[in-house]
Amino acid sequence: MDPGAIHEQIDRILHSQSFANKGQLRKLLEVLYTNMQSHAALKPDQVIKELWPAETKTKRPADVATEMNRLRHALRSYYESEGDGDPITIYLPNRGVTAGDGTRQRPWIVAKTRLDPEDEAGRSWHVDLRSWPQLVLVAALATVFAFTGHFLLSMLLPSPQPRMGRLDGTRLRIMGADGKELWSKEFAQGFGPDSYYEKDNGTRIWFLDLEGKGHTSVLFSYLPTPDAQPHSSTLICYSDRGKEKWRWTPGSKLPEIDEPATYRTFAVGLLRATEKRPLRIVVLSNLDPWWGGPSQIAALDSKGKTLSEYWHSGGFHDMVVVDLYGDGKDEIVASGIAHGYDARATLVVLDADRVSGASKEVQPEYQLHGMATDQERLRLLFPRSDLNRAAFRYNSAIEPAVQHGDLRLSVLECLAPVGCPVRYEFDKNLHLIAAHPGNQEFENAHGRFYKNGKDAHSFGAEEQAAFLKVRCLVGCPSEFVPVAETYDPAASFEKGWTTHSNPNGVWSYGYSSGFTDAITLYDRTVRNGINGPNAQYWISPAVNRGGSPSAEYNGGPAFNDGNVDFPAERLVLVAGIGGQYSDLVFTAPGSGQYSIEGNFRGAQYGVGTFVGIVADGRVVFRSRITSVGQLAPFRITLDLDAGSKVVFSVGPDRGRQNTGISATITKPCALTDKPSFTSAGEIACSTSAPAARTSLKSAAGRTP
Ligand SMILES: [Zn+2]
Repeated sequence: MDPGAIHEQIDRILHSQSFANKGQLRKLLEVLYTNMQSHAALKPDQVIKELWPAETKTKRPADVATEMNRLRHALRSYYESEGDGDPITIYLPNRGVTAGDGTRQRPWIVAKTRLDPEDEAGRSWHVDLRSWPQLVLVAALATVFAFTGHFLLSMLLPSPQPRMGRLDGTRLRIMGADGKELWSKEFAQGFGPDSYYEKDNGTRIWFLDLEGKGHTSVLFSYLPTPDAQPHSSTLICYSDRGKEKWRWTPGSKLPEIDEPATYRTFAVGLLRATEKRPLRIVVLSNLDPWWGGPSQIAALDSKGKTLSEYWHSGGFHDMVVVDLYGDGKDEIVASGIAHGYDARATLVVLDADRVSGASKEVQPEYQLHGMATDQERLRLLFPRSDLNRAAFRYNSAIEPAVQHGDLRLSVLECLAPVGCPVRYEFDKNLHLIAAHPGNQEFENAHGRFYKNGKDAHSFGAEEQAAFLKVRCLVGCPSEFVPVAETYDPAASFEKGWTTHSNPNGVWSYGYSSGFTDAITLYDRTVRNGINGPNAQYWISPAVNRGGSPSAEYNGGPAFNDGNVDFPAERLVLVAGIGGQYSDLVFTAPGSGQYSIEGNFRGAQYGVGTFVGIVADGRVVFRSRITSVGQLAPFRITLDLDAGSKVVFSVGPDRGRQNTGISATITKPCALTDKPSFTSAGEIACSTSAPAARTSLKSAAGRTP
């Protein structure tokens, strides 16, 4: 195999999200890769020396084996997630199983092309059959077989698992990760309509590990081509090998709905097993046509038996299962339309343990009867724009998703053609932190609609501020979802760097001789190429030594030259070789309670720094960074006055200097505030000018 391709693959893994917080495993992978060509010579002692240079006397080969096992698992989950499509598999053969004659040790690490068509074993995880002479292989397998029986053998040679599917004429075809067909099923009545299976013909097929043993079941929502007879969809469950296991039909007879009623399944999710409950499947289905509602969210066991149901009088179209509150428990997040509330876009969150009852409606004609009281955790209604009210019958919330702990979704304000998304974002504490048109569609459509006539006007700040009025029926302390201002130093950096503004809005960058000492602001922007071509530096020529002390931002892709490890769109503070501390300063724009969350991170091999957070001259957080990839997380709440300063500081310790800083600062708006948008599109709690602005020399960024 091409050594360059292997190098690329190793590099891809080292820079992956899966390995981002696994400094020790990255190091081990590098050691193994470096010794790949001479693996027979690599001994556990040598690995110990590389991994634990300070503990060579106490660490044993067993510790290496443990570490190898961790890496093996990490690689496996990497290839099952973000590395799913990678061309080369890197894996660690189990070295505990020795070859037949006991002399030949297996290699520490093996690279294998994944899409090699003649090579069936290429899909195997644990064993590199090709590198073994035939005889040794047979002997080894015989030994394994004799000792452990069929169980281990089936682990050594797992069958390829379903990963993709498509509809092909009247056949459902299921493929493995390599795109090769595993099995197919004939449906003589065909599939349809196209609106149900949508443009992408892999829709309505889900891949779930229902036994938790690595066997991927395929769930397919089958709807036959429309004919005179109305049909409900049928959810069919197949084993990984294509054996039909069960069928389930969505919906139920409701007194409020005329028969025959047909239901269609739109989304399927998996509720992970907990101590109390085994794994469950959750299925979102809707009366046809879908926007009409009502909708059913059903929890099924892994055999397809309905355990409980929640009914909503509106129409849900999208659903995800996520750990929304970060407490290790799954929540069900569904979105669509609430007909009983002015046909407004809605989002509903259910606890995994409370999938029951029917939504409570204020308009009696929408109330579903004969069911228990609803148990929603959260129920939101999104405002309808003037355009939506004038031209369409409803707006609709779509594609809820959780990214970095924030809940995001879009609300479609146009129905013909479907579009004009307005994007909403809520933080971990369910504060609304963004609400703005996702692209130009909304403003363009609004512009055309209101160009002439007595209602002619253009879309302005006041109308946009109306998007901040998200009503909360269940799950909030107030009638509307609390709004919060947020500040992110990485997101703001480039604007200030480009305009040479320091201070840069609420942020400034400088250096000091200690955590609480006076700060001198950096006065020069440079791009010196030291930490890659995209690193944007703030430095001061008066003290600068080789780019230190400095504050810098990586405006390009992730950078790692074997010295500095600098993720994309992140900040790094470089302590001074001459002893200076490098500081990122936040100046509170108004008084109130600010929550500060984030981490310091080792961004250089051999790093050794002191890190701290100083609020109004008092150290409120302190830690040390001693290895690349190491995180020092913080979560602090501070009462600040307008003009108060919070300093994120990195000082020299015994190692190298580059240390990453990620932070989000959030200030919930007071109920008496009238939140609005800055010219940059950020939320400002109050329209009155923040007092802190007067103390800033230049105030690029946050103009109200
Ligand atoms: Zn308008």
